[in-house]
Amino acid sequence: MTVLVINSGSSSIKYQLVDPESGDAIAVGLVEQIGESSSHVKHTYQGEKHEYDHVLADHGEGLRFVLNLFEKIGPQLSEAGIKAVGHRVVQGGNHFDGPALVTDEVRDLVEELAPLAPLHNPANLRGIDVARELLDVPHVVVFDTAFFQTLPEEAARYALNREVADKYAVRRYGAHGTSHQFVSQKVAEFTGRDDLKQIVLHLGNGASVSAVVNGEAVDTSMGLTPLEGLVMGTRTGDIDPAVIFHLSRVGGMNVGELDNLFNKQSGLKGLAGENDMRAVRALANGGDKFAREALDIYVHRLVKYIGSYAAVMGGLDTIAFTAGIGENDELLRAEVIERLNSFGIKLNLEANGVRSDDIRQISTDDSSVQVLIVPTNEELAIARQAMDVISK
Ligand code: ADP
Repeated sequence: MTVLVINSGSSSIKYQLVDPESGDAIAVGLVEQIGESSSHVKHTYQGEKHEYDHVLADHGEGLRFVLNLFEKIGPQLSEAGIKAVGHRVVQGGNHFDGPALVTDEVRDLVEELAPLAPLHNPANLRGIDVARELLDVPHVVVFDTAFFQTLPEEAARYALNREVADKYAVRRYGAHGTSHQFVSQKVAEFTGRDDLKQIVLHLGNGASVSAVVNGEAVDTSMGLTPLEGLVMGTRTGDIDPAVIFHLSRVGGMNVGELDNLFNKQSGLKGLAGENDMRAVRALANGGDKFAREALDIYVHRLVKYIGSYAAVMGGLDTIAFTAGIGENDELLRAEVIERLNSFGIKLNLEANGVRSDDIRQISTDDSSVQVLIVPTNEELAIARQAMDVISK
């Protein structure tokens, strides 16, 4: 039994054939630079990576090429027991508080939500449309925002003029919800408790933090779009919105330029010249002043969110680090936890240095809060949610 998980971007298709029971990724691949003069395709099966450069004009050609690879290299989809396709969709607005079977109506709703996620939903939709054409199994959409539909109004509503906010559906929808849900459930399983006050730190290229009480999200750092919140690879995160007015009036920048500046030229990249945390750390280790400062700003913002979410929840039981930086950057974890020492949160230095793919505790046993590393797996979460939907 398998599920094909598809994450379709504006010029890319990421895919994984997943066994939702064992959690194994049976085949993994990526099509990049779709629509450019040459596209690049990687398909990994049974530990062997196959790479191709090929002209792929659109997502339809891209997916056809991938399905061909499954035939040629394996596994044969018909024999791999494919039961469903799970599609990652960024924005589900207020329409979806969980995964949904793709019908024509659901498809059209995803399209209707495009103004709220102009960079993402149209690209996700392209993947859904071509996959429905080519793969005759049930298709399920899993939304990045769904887990945050439980946010209370006081956390979801901006103090923006009510009429304007409601007319244009401006509110905090959050993002990375599939990961925050997966990780918070793992923490509950690991601790054997479902009555926890949790903070989940998803620190990848994009980064977000959530506050979860008894399994339900009560606050999160991403807002109308994934721009709000933490310092990210190329995004500013929180910033006074008046900076936009200022740069428009004084700097003469237009909306497109500002969008690009805030989303693509800021964050670690804008501060230190590199968006990849490993590169920033290497620079800082070599004495680069701006890289060190970028790390300090990154940690400062994280600590600020942890403190405020502990206050919002009226207590804190666990902190979970996840995603590329959260799972791998032991120095960052140490810097963050050190700043929380005055609250009785204590790091077990040795445990923090151990490399492993398993969930593990990195706080001391007498720490006031249990600190964990929890490897996330969004593809597996999507595959499991797809199976849940089709078995109903
Ligand atoms: P995405 O948001 O693209 O899924 P990931 O979750 O893969 O991103 O995280 C990518 C980030 O993780 C990059 O900034 C990368 O530098 C960082 N990262 C990966 N391994 C390490 C490591 N060993 N130390 C520090 N950062 C790491």
